[in-house]
Amino acid sequence: MKAMILKGLSRFAENPAPLVPVELPEPAPGEGEILIAVSACGVCHTELDEIEGRTPPPAYPIIPGHQVVGTVAARGAHAGRFQIGERVGVGWIYWACGHCDACRAGTENLCAGFRATGRDANGGYAEFLTVPEAFAHAIPGIFSNSEAAPLLCAGAIGWRSLRLAGLSDGQNLGLTGFGASAHLVLLAVRHRFPRAKPFVFARSERERAFARELGAAGAGATEEAPPEKLQAVIDTTPAWKPVVEALKHLAPGGRLVINAIRKEESDKAELLRLDYPTQLWQEKEIKSVANVARSDIREFLELAAEIPLRPAVEEYPLADANRALAELKAGKIRGAKVLRMA
Ligand SMILES: [Zn+2]
Ligand SMILES: [Zn+2]
Repeated sequence: MKAMILKGLSRFAENPAPLVPVELPEPAPGEGEILIAVSACGVCHTELDEIEGRTPPPAYPIIPGHQVVGTVAARGAHAGRFQIGERVGVGWIYWACGHCDACRAGTENLCAGFRATGRDANGGYAEFLTVPEAFAHAIPGIFSNSEAAPLLCAGAIGWRSLRLAGLSDGQNLGLTGFGASAHLVLLAVRHRFPRAKPFVFARSERERAFARELGAAGAGATEEAPPEKLQAVIDTTPAWKPVVEALKHLAPGGRLVINAIRKEESDKAELLRLDYPTQLWQEKEIKSVANVARSDIREFLELAAEIPLRPAVEEYPLADANRALAELKAGKIRGAKVLRMA
């Protein structure tokens, strides 16, 4: 099978093509696993974190990709949940133990043994992958393969962030950064909280114009002040400045949710500008989002089908994975980037 593999850590500035095209044997599904023939795989900012070492894979080579849509091509022993040919998806959660305190409390995303697709196990930048069938998801029929892919991470983790933000209808929500995840959160908010006002803060005018097009109540630059205080903010940027700026605009008791697996170090000095009376006092909260649980993916797929929510996607052939990642790194984004296998 064709695959794009990562052989070791790399920096985009020095190596614009960190993934290498290879021909590999098709994997065989083990007990309780299914083999998926991949149709589409979303491109996520977390791949940049894996490649550049902010959340490094434990072993190489590894096939990245954790927003995988395809069809069941084979079933291992004792795997009977899906039929051959059925369309399924795989998100960031590849496996959790099921019996630790976190798993039993319904927070399998915090499982100490959590394994991530495309980091701890081979992912979807390939023609095939295997996955434990319990961690695969049926895909609603109304979505094309490319539309379904970004729902599995960008959408599901956006949904988890929105839940953790504790937003109620009629409140103001800030979104800092406007990539794949934030654009899906905006569409979900408009449906779920029709009287809420979403304000978007993004570095490029292209992203801000896209946010207005999708129904944002306002869109401005990172350092701009919104017309009203915000009860909640979801940050999807890799930087610190948007966090420091957003805290200024939170209403008393407001919550900032950071939806990023890692932050980059380049503007960490911005944190020294933090002013306790204006940015943290008044019971403001900061919370991070870690991974996703299967329920986040399931709930978001259901919601997206009910709305129905159509992600804006830009498609690339598998062989152009490096170009898609380089454009993501450079901030050339409109919606979600997806690799198509055929
Ligand atoms: Zn992701
Ligand atoms: Zn566990």
